[in-house]
Amino acid sequence: MKIKLIIFLSISILLAVVGGSYLLIMSERRLADFDYLIMLHEVEILRNQLLLSVRTVEADLYSQRSRIPAGVDEIVGHVSKMESTMKSCFECHHEESVNARLYDLDDQVGDFSHSLSRILTLQANSKRYQAEVEKAHIIADSLVSKINTMIILTGTKLNEKTEISLRNVARTKLIMVVLVAAGPLMIAILGLTALAGFTKPIKVLLEATRKMKTGNLDIRTAGLKNEFAELGQAFDDMAISLQKHTRIIEESEQRYRHLFESAADAIFILSAEENTAGNILQANQAAARMHGYTVEELMTMNIRDLDTPEAALGVPIRIDRMLRGERIRTQINHLKRDGTVFPVEVSASIFEVGNKKYILAIDRDITERKQTENALQRAQQIRVAGEMATGLAHEIKNPLAGIKAAMEMLSRETYFPEEDRMVLNKAIDEIKRIEYLMKSLLNFARPPKPQLVRTDVNAVLETVLGSVLKDPAYARDASRAIDIQKNYDLHLPAVMADPMQLQQIFMNLLLNAADAMPGGGTLALETMFDRGPGMLQIKISDTGTGVDAAVINNIFQPFFTTKAKGTGLGLAITKRLVEENDGQISIESKANGGAMFIITLPALQEGELQA
Ligand code: ADP
Repeated sequence: MKIKLIIFLSISILLAVVGGSYLLIMSERRLADFDYLIMLHEVEILRNQLLLSVRTVEADLYSQRSRIPAGVDEIVGHVSKMESTMKSCFECHHEESVNARLYDLDDQVGDFSHSLSRILTLQANSKRYQAEVEKAHIIADSLVSKINTMIILTGTKLNEKTEISLRNVARTKLIMVVLVAAGPLMIAILGLTALAGFTKPIKVLLEATRKMKTGNLDIRTAGLKNEFAELGQAFDDMAISLQKHTRIIEESEQRYRHLFESAADAIFILSAEENTAGNILQANQAAARMHGYTVEELMTMNIRDLDTPEAALGVPIRIDRMLRGERIRTQINHLKRDGTVFPVEVSASIFEVGNKKYILAIDRDITERKQTENALQRAQQIRVAGEMATGLAHEIKNPLAGIKAAMEMLSRETYFPEEDRMVLNKAIDEIKRIEYLMKSLLNFARPPKPQLVRTDVNAVLETVLGSVLKDPAYARDASRAIDIQKNYDLHLPAVMADPMQLQQIFMNLLLNAADAMPGGGTLALETMFDRGPGMLQIKISDTGTGVDAAVINNIFQPFFTTKAKGTGLGLAITKRLVEENDGQISIESKANGGAMFIITLPALQEGELQA
């Protein structure tokens, strides 16, 4: 580019020098032409003066015959002026041919002067005088004729030279105009060419920069020369380096994104800024799945929206602890979109990017862990109950049987007054209750292995209902009438179950329902078949006191009871027996009061081994 610039400047200077010199030479020449023309004019004037002098002298000659002849001094004066005019003709430079003519003319002027001087001296001799006058006239005429010829020649030459000069002037003018106009034009063209040498590579670099700005790092500069080629190379190297670093960052980002998206735990990035604290800025697929929202929906929410109201109350405290540098590890309850509450173990801490603070929260769904813990707890309780029951059976059963037998014997004695017999019977009832409790305990701790046979659930329900209706809890009295509603699926498939255990299950539930309706109500029995999963459903519901959340969570726990004389083993045994028969049991609190127990049992498949 430097070379281009030097070439451009050199050409411009050369053009200016050549153009200027040419104009100078042309101006010189035209001036010389004008000098020559002026000289020609002077020659013409001189010749006219010579002609005039000759004519004046000739007039003086003619005047000699007139009444007022010119004086001698006057004539001499005119003659000397003629001679001096003639002499001045030699002052100019002439060509050889012109000089020859001038010498000839000078000779004649000399002759004319001699003739005149002789005329002036020969006035006494009239004959010679006359002859001399004649001669003088002839010379004068010849002189006049020659001078005229020379004047004509000079005039012709003058005209020719003037024409040539004017033509030359016009040509010079044209060349000057062309030079004046073409010079800047050429410089402009050269300048633009040189400028293009600058602007083109700058344009290429600018375009490349613009594309790079849009994130296109594949761009490479091409067609650049000289210093711009070096600049272009540096630019390309920068783009390659940027591309390399961007790729490294992208790969790293992809690795972390994969980690983020494939994590089984919910990962949230939350704002820790004062006004937006808890806003969900990013969430992974696991978070969306866990809570029943889409990732996009989560990103419009605050973490409080996922907490249960009790857990949400602790959010400001937890954020405050994190801002003080603490890493939080706690268990709280979260809400799914459908309102289901589930336990999560939260691990969260603050991190900073730029000058902004964020919270990284990892939530693990611990529903299964909790269930396992509960199952373990139950298993331990069962084991303890089993050990207790076995111990009690061993230690208490026989003495208790002895006491009961003795008391029954005493109660049959007739000499006992009626009041004492009533006391004895009450004691016998209490002993029976202890025996029942022990039997229940043994039943719960070591239930007998189920004898699985093809069983008609509707029939078992009917049998249990028949015997339960005789129970004092169901025996009709006006104050606590229990209405029974049956809604059996008449095409209910059979199940593989132990009918005796099914009876015990239904019996427990029906007696509990009666207990829950001390003022009467409705007991509803419903059976149905869910073809999809191939499961039977048995729903036993009442319109009794119902169950609150605290009771629901513990209702199947052994020894949990709200009754004054309850054992808290009925539902624990029921659940155990349902599970022994491959089924499941759950409880729902009904909206209009009352409780509903739902038992699911697998239906006996077509062709399955039948007992
Ligand atoms: P128990 O009947 O000896 O109390 P259960 O295990 O059978 O023991 O029942 C545990 C508790 O569950 C009861 O004390 C009662 O509070 C509650 N319960 C059981 N069935 C019902 C029902 N149908 N309606 C309301 N509460 C019930």
